[in-house]
Amino acid sequence: MSLLGPVEIRNLAKKLDLRPTKRLGQNFVIDGGTVRRIVRVAEVGQEDTVIEIGPGLGSLTLALLPEVRRVIAVEIDPILAAQLPETVASHAGPDAERLTVIHTDALRVTPADLPSEAQPTALVANLPYNVSVPVVLHLLEVLPTLQRGLVMVQSEVADRLAAAPGSKIYGVPSAKAAWYADVRRAGPVGRTVFWPIPNVDSGLVSLVRREPPVTSASREEVFAVVDAAFAQRRKTLRAALASWAGSPAQAEAALRKAGVDPTLRGEQLGIEDFARIAENRAV
Ligand code: SAM
Repeated sequence: MSLLGPVEIRNLAKKLDLRPTKRLGQNFVIDGGTVRRIVRVAEVGQEDTVIEIGPGLGSLTLALLPEVRRVIAVEIDPILAAQLPETVASHAGPDAERLTVIHTDALRVTPADLPSEAQPTALVANLPYNVSVPVVLHLLEVLPTLQRGLVMVQSEVADRLAAAPGSKIYGVPSAKAAWYADVRRAGPVGRTVFWPIPNVDSGLVSLVRREPPVTSASREEVFAVVDAAFAQRRKTLRAALASWAGSPAQAEAALRKAGVDPTLRGEQLGIEDFARIAENRAV
């Protein structure tokens, strides 16, 4: 099995007449050390079915295949999706049989799109940066078999996903991701491992599935409180949640019933607090 280096990536791109687009976040890893590191940090093994979002030219896919039971690669770009089985056949030997390629938008993936006997246990991906947070949240929501993940995202997004309440960068992505998973940063990645070189650095993020908070409110109801609290993040919760609750007084009543000080701001609350507030909305 051989990994893709800078020359092979460029040759493949030339063969496909590929012009990497920003819109699809097409920055391909050209460094074998980086994809090996991602697989190592992901701690996946032969019992895992991995869903990889955006396999691109196959750098990470080739590093994953010998290590896991199956890779389900979801790629939106028709040319890249069509090329991937060929690249893998010529590089991965018998491991190529472990690959399933699905040509679709990761934001629309449902379990019905995946082989029924191979529901994913782990997400491992160098994510398209403009949709990285929605992709992570969508997959954690629709794929209940997903137990953990290791994703590469823009460095600032890694910080935000892993931020704890009380930090300046704690916000909607941090609070929503915490509904599904324990999230932590798992190391920086410099921009020179990509072609083309992006103008931002990257970071690895590890996600380990957790039970959501125990609450009588639905996930949608809790997320509505999160969205309202951060839509006006500099306001106190009493003011920020006024239209969600009906009025400032109703917001204050819900907050007090939930045991939350109405003069706090959203960035000071954990997902359990948002769940209690959602539960106490007067109907
Ligand atoms: N995994 C490859 C690598 O590390 O070299 C490519 C990663 S590149 C950052 C992101 C990939 O995601 C591209 O191949 C792009 O075409 C694909 N992509 C972008 N948006 C997507 C979406 N909504 N669903 C699935 N794939 C997407």
